[in-house]
Amino acid sequence: MNQKNIISASNNAALKLKVLAKEKERVRRKLVVTAKEKERVRRKLAVAAEKLRLKAKQLAVTAKNLENANIVARNALEDLGIENSKVEMARAKEEAILVSIGDGLFATDKRGNITLINKTAEKLLGKKSKEVMGKFFSEVILMEDEKGVPIPLKKRPSSMALATSATTTMDPTYYYVRKDKTKFPVAIMVTPVILGGKVIGVIEVFRDITREKEIDKAKSEFISLASHQLKTPPTAIKLLTERLLGGKMGEFTKKQKEYIDDIRSSNQRMIDLVNALLNVSRIELGAFTIRVNEKNVCAIVQSILDELKSVIDKKQLKLKMISRDMNAMLMLDETLFRIVINNLVTNAIRYTAKGGEIRVECKVANKGQTLGGNLLKESCFVVVVSDTGYGIPRGEQSKVFTKFFRADNAREKLTDGTGLGLYIVKSILDHSGGLIWFTSRENKGSVFYAAIPMTGMRMKAGEKELMS
Ligand code: ADP
Repeated sequence: MNQKNIISASNNAALKLKVLAKEKERVRRKLVVTAKEKERVRRKLAVAAEKLRLKAKQLAVTAKNLENANIVARNALEDLGIENSKVEMARAKEEAILVSIGDGLFATDKRGNITLINKTAEKLLGKKSKEVMGKFFSEVILMEDEKGVPIPLKKRPSSMALATSATTTMDPTYYYVRKDKTKFPVAIMVTPVILGGKVIGVIEVFRDITREKEIDKAKSEFISLASHQLKTPPTAIKLLTERLLGGKMGEFTKKQKEYIDDIRSSNQRMIDLVNALLNVSRIELGAFTIRVNEKNVCAIVQSILDELKSVIDKKQLKLKMISRDMNAMLMLDETLFRIVINNLVTNAIRYTAKGGEIRVECKVANKGQTLGGNLLKESCFVVVVSDTGYGIPRGEQSKVFTKFFRADNAREKLTDGTGLGLYIVKSILDHSGGLIWFTSRENKGSVFYAAIPMTGMRMKAGEKELMS
């Protein structure tokens, strides 16, 4: 090879080397760029990875929380289930107690539809639970009076309790009719069920009182029979003492007269007691008559006061009679009305110390008026008998109209007394459509109110009269 060729070859080689070096540099630069890019991507990936890690951590916390919440919810549900079954158990227990109670019992909702009936009620009424459940109580449990007349819905104790939200009992005896149409006398107590201040239904408890009625009747018949027998001797004694005192057997010394007078007044007490017992038995056997006639009420009251004047004077009591409606005429059974007023005035005299005051007021009181704490549901003629006497102790006031009741303070001061007067008075007014009530403060005095509706006393058929 010549020198020229050698030079050319080495130039070529140098050129090629240069090109190669350039290429290498380009490749190196590219590699640098790629490395940078790679680093950037790596960093980006690292950030994303960190974010993901954080997210994963958060998710793990959320998952844990969810798991916890789940556990709490599961526990709460379990607790609720336990509580629920406890409540259910308690409810079932209460229902079982109600259902197995010895008296008849049924419950209604606020519309009067039966929601529960117990076994005793089913047995007493001769009806199965499925025959009455969900039905209106008066349609499936029939009630009548003694004569078989159906009791109107508004007079049924359950209706009254639903209407008034008050516990209701029954005064006259009504009868429940069994499925087989036989009936039995019933004592009833209805209690409203109140939730959030509202009546949501009633519970009626009732029992068959056939046996009590039979015993009561036998007792009254016995008293009636015994009283008749007891009446004969004192009637004879009365006649004889009156003859003696009348001077038919000659003159007596002052002392003898005093003794005979004592015999006469003790004997009179015996007659009064026997008469009271007879009246009670006639009331309880439902055997007394109420016969009404148009009468001047004030005139009758005045004549009673005139009859009692000597006793009033003897005790030096002041008597005030106030007649606001002098000419009021009312349909009355005079004998019964006299028993009422006579008892009230006699009590005022007996239970007031010497020198006290008795006030008798006769007046018409209108429907809606309040008198002695009592709101009148109809217009009435009212006789108000007030005294400034011993009064009735507060703790004993609820028993005043019960048979044989005598307050402790009255017993201490007056040993004689039957405790039958006010019982008879209340029975007369109850049976004739009237009312009696009172207010009293011990050692201050009492006020008794006897009211007869302006429409008059209610008539009543019976076999016997009451004795005044
Ligand atoms: P009695 O007078 O025969 O005891 P009542 O039935 O008439 O029977 O009266 C019952 C009781 O009521 C009396 O015993 C007395 O305790 C009380 N009472 C009645 N009226 C009055 C009155 N005006 N003042 C005080 N207590 C009275």
